Amino acid sequence: MVNKMAQILCRDVALGYEGKAVIQHLNFEVNQGDYLCIVGENGSGKSTLMKALLKLKAPMSGEIRMGDGLEADGIGYLPQQTVVQKDFPASVQEIVRSGCLGRFGWRPFYGRKEKEAAAEQMEKLGITRLAGRCYRELSGGQQQRVLLARAMCATRYMLLLDEPVAGLDPVAVQEMYELLEELNRKEKITIIMVSHDLHAAVAYADHILHISEEPLFFGTKEDYLKSGIGKAYLSATGGGRIV
Ligand code: ADP
Repeated sequence: MVNKMAQILCRDVALGYEGKAVIQHLNFEVNQGDYLCIVGENGSGKSTLMKALLKLKAPMSGEIRMGDGLEADGIGYLPQQTVVQKDFPASVQEIVRSGCLGRFGWRPFYGRKEKEAAAEQMEKLGITRLAGRCYRELSGGQQQRVLLARAMCATRYMLLLDEPVAGLDPVAVQEMYELLEELNRKEKITIIMVSHDLHAAVAYADHILHISEEPLFFGTKEDYLKSGIGKAYLSATGGGRIV
């Protein structure tokens, strides 16, 4: 039997700044179609790991290997929204199309392929009617759909999301989770999500990576729920948010 390579294989990785490790002994793998939630307290290193997965930061030691057709520039990334992004003065269509820049190579104008890819993703995410609207005039939930469509233009394989529901109202939060679940189930898009919402993490994800001072936990959701660290964090947060 051919042993298929994981999309991401992280082996004994240490990450940190100026020679000081933030995360050590990190071991996990992500396969096509997985839905992985990364949880942990503030400052535990979740964003640092995101940067490493996007190859914006090299490990201090260990190895992060990409396989199964995946390259770091083939990952669709949905960053945490900043105030500046919320005020971005561009149309929805322009923002979604800009997600195609890495995938189809740099060109001064968008070609037919980029336009079609952007239109397809806007349709999929139910925002075609917003195409000509200015991004900053949209609701938080609509803005996240636009950024999701943009990230989907950049990948056929994997979405990396940093706190995608932060600041959204409860209805928009639910819609966002349902959209991601659909992309994962129907399109087999791998999802890696940093989340503070432990309740949602255990509801939707199939794997959990819990980053803490050690021991770290990586495994299936079912094993996390049975583990000491999983039980402790779930009871400490009432199944809710880690702060
Ligand atoms: P999280 O996303 O889990 O809140 P971060 O990855 O942002 O955690 O940060 C992990 C640790 O690394 C924190 O102690 C933070 O202060 C430190 N850190 C983050 N970015 C830098 C940086 N650019 N230079 C030095 N230390 C940093």
